[in-house]
Amino acid sequence: MHELGIVYHIIDTLEQVAKDNELTHIDSVTMEVGEVSAVIPDYLTDCWAWASGKNELLRGCRMEVEPLPAVTHCDGCGEDYPTVAHGRICPHCGSERTWLVKGNEINIKEISVSE
Ligand SMILES: [Zn+2]
Repeated sequence: MHELGIVYHIIDTLEQVAKDNELTHIDSVTMEVGEVSAVIPDYLTDCWAWASGKNELLRGCRMEVEPLPAVTHCDGCGEDYPTVAHGRICPHCGSERTWLVKGNEINIKEISVSE
């Protein structure tokens, strides 16, 4: 149900964009989904198919999902490294003084509309 909440949030955002730009239909939306965001792309597109079909603005609108790689920064040595492969321990210096730079988020990357 996590994904459905996200889908409603996306729909709210798209409705606002459509209003601001006087769009009557949106054809496709591209999402960036962070590797460690806990969002499952297949669930997201399933929820999307269900929820967008009930919305005039979004009927038939496709959703593309692109993975956004997770990156962690190490304060020990100043390097960045891929989070999924190495977790919280820096592979360069072994420090645990690390924090997630990106990969926990989900963004609307692109919206496409026909004229
Ligand atoms: Zn390090």
